[in-house]
Amino acid sequence: MCGIVGVVGSKNATDILIQGLQKLEYRGYDSAGIFVADKNGNQNLVKAVGRISALQEKIGIEVNGSSGIGHTRWATHGKPSEVNAHPHVSASFRFVLVHNGVIENFKELKEKYLASDKFVGETDTEIVVHLIGKLIEEENLSVVEGFQKALKLIEGSFAFALMDKKNPEVIYVAKNKSPLLIGLGDGYNMVCSDAMAMIRETNRFLEIHDGEMVIVRKDAVEIIDTDGVTRKREPYIAKLDLSDIGKGTYPYYMLKEIDEQPAVMRKIMQEYMSEDSPHQMKVDQEILEAVVKADRIYIIAAGTSSHAGWAAKAFFEQMTQTPVEVCLSSEFGYNIPLLSQNPLFIYISQSGETADSRQVLVKMKELGCKALTITNVPGSTLSREADYTLLLHASPEIAVASTKAYTAQIAVMAVLAKAVGEYIENSTARSFNLIKELSLVANAIEALLTEKELIEQKVAKHLQDTRNAFYIGRGADYYASMEAALKLKEISYIQCEGFAAGELKHGTIALIEEGTPVQALISNQEIASHTRGNVMEVVSRGAKVLTIVSQDCAQADDDLVVQTVHPFLTCIAMVVPTQLVAYYATLQRGLDVDKPRNLAKSVTVE
Ligand code: GLU
Repeated sequence: MCGIVGVVGSKNATDILIQGLQKLEYRGYDSAGIFVADKNGNQNLVKAVGRISALQEKIGIEVNGSSGIGHTRWATHGKPSEVNAHPHVSASFRFVLVHNGVIENFKELKEKYLASDKFVGETDTEIVVHLIGKLIEEENLSVVEGFQKALKLIEGSFAFALMDKKNPEVIYVAKNKSPLLIGLGDGYNMVCSDAMAMIRETNRFLEIHDGEMVIVRKDAVEIIDTDGVTRKREPYIAKLDLSDIGKGTYPYYMLKEIDEQPAVMRKIMQEYMSEDSPHQMKVDQEILEAVVKADRIYIIAAGTSSHAGWAAKAFFEQMTQTPVEVCLSSEFGYNIPLLSQNPLFIYISQSGETADSRQVLVKMKELGCKALTITNVPGSTLSREADYTLLLHASPEIAVASTKAYTAQIAVMAVLAKAVGEYIENSTARSFNLIKELSLVANAIEALLTEKELIEQKVAKHLQDTRNAFYIGRGADYYASMEAALKLKEISYIQCEGFAAGELKHGTIALIEEGTPVQALISNQEIASHTRGNVMEVVSRGAKVLTIVSQDCAQADDDLVVQTVHPFLTCIAMVVPTQLVAYYATLQRGLDVDKPRNLAKSVTVE
């Protein structure tokens, strides 16, 4: 979480920092700050609580220079306040630091090394910058030596960008577990949490590996390892388009991203369709072999990505003839079950930076287990550290609430399942025309997107003034219900549970009272009558119900009808109206759809 940006050698550092922070705002947005300096000794530190726009209002024209660092925060230690906002300064005010991550031993460091220091805020970051300052100033070390010594004492996750007011033409950076990149410009260089925020300035990037320190000057970038040895690394070109990260004429990114879903489905088909036959999938042979060798697949994911894992499970098992377990990454790493003989781990993460999933990847790699990452971000940490990667090709997802990445994750898992099925000559896989089925899904989504007005009206009636709600469904509709409920609660703050329709009567139905909104998902003819029975049970207890059904299950009084798609892909189509339900419920409450409270897009803390 949180966004870091830095620049050296620019004509207008403030502008670059603010533009960069705006692009990074999806990563955290409770407070923000910048430090800007030039060679003549003009130096400014400005911080504000709230969005980047609040920071911008506080920045006068005098706040400019050729280098600087900026930060948009997602608080972990200490409330979102101006004193806790980054950058933080050392006791002598000489060093300035921004940080993404969590320092686990900050209390010990404070007691052992900084007992007599005074701190203005409560962050773990302030301890670090005091420690760096103390080591350098009291032990007479160079900045590199002092920073490196501090890094050896620090435990936890971090991406740091450090500046020395005595020499503001250099930024010192280091990382462990948290993302950070170097952007290479012409006569200037940058640091940033992700490539998207720098793409306006450059498309040439240098990776930083955990444990390395990088010294960034306007015309040189030096990477050194923990022993002080210089490392050489070739830059890479990021294939990002500026237009991918704009909102265009949309009021919110979320709506744009919902609308992009048919195009994403088609892009996935195009990327993974074999040139030899439109019925065959194109996936690297070594990935296919890794799946075939596995006696069990463990899908490791968090939040929406874990729901995509559930949605893909049945299809994956059918096609590959291999059992699949779906596990929450934050639980799995600290509660590892008895593993099968030859497991394969599939990590699903939109950003490829999810810290909870990464800690599992690191542990499982130590056990020698192979890793495949399914992500939207090429070159992301989970992609780099896994043995194999499959990309979502969904173009950047900016709204905090995931929409197109979820549907793309299911589609890419389907591509993989089908490719493996063909490879092992599974007859079901061979006769399954995934391209045709995904085209039908794209069409179904397109048809739904023409129903926005109807959905908006239904939502206004159904969810008005409610504090809680339920989604219910069976089988795949239960998995879609979990995702639908998460979407609704994360942006509209309506407390919502996604429930297995048949399970409600075993306790939770006690919560149904006069006027409780229940949304029922029904897309499987075989079990439709059971779910309809569960609908009657809640109606009998006062619930008001909104039904979202597939065409083949539809009855005259259903509220929203979705074109029928293959049962294995039904979560993709069924979830789209629920994304719009969440969107309109949030708009109708006057809330910020793209930036819900307490959340951030790329969850880089455990
Ligand atoms: N732990 C630091 C803080 O609470 C950094 C949080 C972040 O990554 O934004 O300020």
